[in-house]
Amino acid sequence: MPGIDNIMENPFRMETMLEYLAEHPDKRFAARAAHNVCSTLENKMDKWGETNRKFYNKLLNTAEYLAAKTTLSSFPSRMYLELTNACNLDCPMCGQSFFRGKRALLDPRVVNKLEPIYPYLDDLCLAGFGETLIHPHLKEIIYAIPSYVPTRIITNGLPLHEEIIDFLTGNLHSLWVSFEATDPETYQKIRGVDAYHRLLDQIRQLQETKERRGTDLPRLFFCFVAMQRNIHQLPAYIEQASKLGAEGVHVNFLTVFRDSLKEQSLYFDREKAEEYFEKARHVARSCNIELTLPSDNGSGGSSFFRCAEPWQFSYVSATGDIIPCCVYTYPLGNIYSTSFSKIWNNEAYQTFRHSVNSPRSRHQRCRRCIIDANRTRWDENRHFQLIDKKNRLIEEKQDA
Ligand code: SF4
Repeated sequence: MPGIDNIMENPFRMETMLEYLAEHPDKRFAARAAHNVCSTLENKMDKWGETNRKFYNKLLNTAEYLAAKTTLSSFPSRMYLELTNACNLDCPMCGQSFFRGKRALLDPRVVNKLEPIYPYLDDLCLAGFGETLIHPHLKEIIYAIPSYVPTRIITNGLPLHEEIIDFLTGNLHSLWVSFEATDPETYQKIRGVDAYHRLLDQIRQLQETKERRGTDLPRLFFCFVAMQRNIHQLPAYIEQASKLGAEGVHVNFLTVFRDSLKEQSLYFDREKAEEYFEKARHVARSCNIELTLPSDNGSGGSSFFRCAEPWQFSYVSATGDIIPCCVYTYPLGNIYSTSFSKIWNNEAYQTFRHSVNSPRSRHQRCRRCIIDANRTRWDENRHFQLIDKKNRLIEEKQDA
């Protein structure tokens, strides 16, 4: 490749080259070239310095993914740290209402064990299957994470009492409140409790506390699970979010995980859903609020989806299990007994990285992956993931 030495000396050119290689149709050529980038960056690792460490790690991580390396010198840039898999609510539309597995609280000492990873993270999401704000040691966990780490919590918002608001204000980077109604009746039908007005009051209290202390943190975002029962409320919901000071609204489809939820799925009423998405876009533009609708970038074609999650991301569950993404729930190690760095390159992780992008050995869970970027918004797999009471996919068990 002409000028390759010049490119290798300039990290920004290297970044452009990696983008080019990611799109290159000849995957073998791209892997060979990415391999060269890996060697160059690995040789310079001890000269990265504190300020550039995150940027160079990301370059190396991308190169290692493109080169299909299974043992990595780079670390993930995104992480989920699940504080608990228990919840204060029992919403019928959530897997929580069905799950009968063991409940757990994360041992706060795990936060210190993850210290070597923090300098590389763009996003540390303190969330997972349960309600983060009910962890009894939440305050000490928040204070133990260095302030430079971009932290995020996803919550149903109901445990957001004065004391929690007090220590989250100025110390958490963003708070994502998940609720999907503009009136108390709809809220109660979806969430199973009569708490709509209380929730809104608590959100206002958070915003007032931020203003009083002169801080933007935590930045506020809302999550809306779209279904038959509430899709008509989406435009008004965005207006309400804007009035409450939220910066954005993130919309997801209801996932049908058991038969009784099918009647709430928008899968059977696409025209209505698209009509309200269009209205929602219009309102979001006029309120100047960021709106993320269920992604629709996929062509729906049969091209093979290449997954980068086992390189870029890792999930630490409340039981200490390390899993490679939010979908594949089989543990590759446990942080209570082993350091993250050791698990990151252990045999189980290497085998998984080797198989995930191989059409022949890809796991069944990956074949039905809900985040497959080739899928359209209306792909069946985006709407239906029937599970049993241990959170295992029913189709997967039938295939086994
Ligand atoms: S389940 Fe999906 S996101 Fe997870 S590793 Fe497999 S393909 Fe990637």
